Amino acid sequence: MTIDTDGQYICSMTRREFIQTGIGASLALTPVGALAVPLFSSNRNEKKITRNDAPDTLWKWSKEVYFTEKLSNNYSKCLTCPNECVLPPDARSRCRSHVNKGGTIYTLVYGNPCAIHVDPIEKKPLYHFLPTSRTFSIATTGCSFNCLNCQNWEISQARPEDVKFSTLFPRDVVDRAIATACTSIAYTYSEATTFYEYMADTCRIARERQIKNVWVTNGYINKQPLIELCRTLDAANVDIKSFSEKTYSCLNAGRLQPVLETLKILKDKNVWFEMNALIVPTYSDNMDMIREMCGWILTHLGPDHPLHLSRFHPQYRLTYLPPTPIAFLEKARETALNMGLHYVYVGNIPPSDSSHTYCPSCKKRIINRTGYRIEDTRIKDGACAYCGRTIAGIWS
Ligand code: SF4
Repeated sequence: MTIDTDGQYICSMTRREFIQTGIGASLALTPVGALAVPLFSSNRNEKKITRNDAPDTLWKWSKEVYFTEKLSNNYSKCLTCPNECVLPPDARSRCRSHVNKGGTIYTLVYGNPCAIHVDPIEKKPLYHFLPTSRTFSIATTGCSFNCLNCQNWEISQARPEDVKFSTLFPRDVVDRAIATACTSIAYTYSEATTFYEYMADTCRIARERQIKNVWVTNGYINKQPLIELCRTLDAANVDIKSFSEKTYSCLNAGRLQPVLETLKILKDKNVWFEMNALIVPTYSDNMDMIREMCGWILTHLGPDHPLHLSRFHPQYRLTYLPPTPIAFLEKARETALNMGLHYVYVGNIPPSDSSHTYCPSCKKRIINRTGYRIEDTRIKDGACAYCGRTIAGIWS
């Protein structure tokens, strides 16, 4: 895969080798606005998608995609995310969830979640949003990226008809969330932007019934759908997968700039969000990159949105890499705090002091965590119980 050869980055594969892995074909054949269908046809020995190729339930409940542009000759462009797939008739999208039938793009994953769990909100991770609450978590198949280190690749890189799924429509999702004593619904695990219609409709009903909405995302979404989503969104966790366009290109098959735009819009729309940076050895374990990222965060978002620095564990196509050294993560946290960020956590490691929340003024420990469990909280009415300083977040 091609990677930044400046500084500390290592070039582990050529672009041609990356393309040969199969995942890389998407890079080769689906740049922004490119035709998407040859990619999956050649890779998976698929022909054109016809009605008979997908289970009846997928077609039965398929729904027109909200943000599209009709083109000539029954071509149509999806405008949900910056991939902006151009689909000829009967073509399948890069995220595998959308198909063009007769010039109209339909989603195949509306009401078809393949993952349903009740999680602690801390697992998203969201540390400053209703701590100790439960979140009803759903996902369908599909993702706009092809991360080499994806931990949910069995669903994110699958077609909807390739996995077991339930039938659960937006109203049912909200009913289930209430029945399981969840405070929020999380659109998570895969990339919820690729099941935008399902998420947006569920968000609207959840808002009407006082259930919060949480979006766990790679942040790769176009401006208009995002602004629309912000009307009913309460919180988000956004991945910053690196702070280099080259690394985004070869590690994730995506781009950094749209993610930064997403963060600015969330800030502008007053949606609470936290950021997650998974540090992958040889790709993003670069202290200069960490400094650059923190500088951008401070300039554009301020010091109060938490940054989670997560440890990579070998998986999917990067099993040959070691886990991120904990010492590097702790050093990165120290760097971020010294630069002025108020809340920086290290995740995916054994219990450590870097998973607690400290007051930025008096420095006392105000939330004590062990894994996803909260042992003790010293926050009163959204402020430090010791010195009274306001602690950023949504606490009740
Ligand atoms: S949501 Fe899917 S179909 Fe739409 S532009 Fe993104 S990758 Fe393409």
